[in-house]
Amino acid sequence: MHSLQHLLFHDGNFLGIEWGIWKVVGWLGNLVFFSRVFVQWYYTERLKRVVVPVSFWWLSLAGSGLLLSYALCYRKDSVFIFAYAFTWIPYIRNIVIQRRHEDAHLDCAKCGAASPPTARFCSACGTPLTGAVPPAGMGVLTEGNKVNKG
Ligand SMILES: [Zn+2]
Repeated sequence: MHSLQHLLFHDGNFLGIEWGIWKVVGWLGNLVFFSRVFVQWYYTERLKRVVVPVSFWWLSLAGSGLLLSYALCYRKDSVFIFAYAFTWIPYIRNIVIQRRHEDAHLDCAKCGAASPPTARFCSACGTPLTGAVPPAGMGVLTEGNKVNKG
């Protein structure tokens, strides 16, 4: 018990770290940013295929935001600042694309189950879905895109 206490508290500080508000922000950023890898791994193990859940991008955005503010306000280190200055762009883009993809899903009029935008029938009950977008390369001929035979 005494050695554990010595391990956690030495030099009068928890884990030997001099704690302040920015140390808390920095370590919280580390924790959030690092946790995304385990979230992604969990979903991949659960589904038995490699997946990147949307929570991965939210954790990336939050963690890198905390680390960027730590780098900007506390460390004022150009290398550290540059490491997180632009990573938010693909994080936000992935979140936006995921949101648009979810919005494009079709809800079954009979059972309410959501199906992918390209589905022609409900995967839960088999009811034909209205407004289904055909997969790429299987376009429907309309007045607008009809081949001109003239
Ligand atoms: Zn259905």
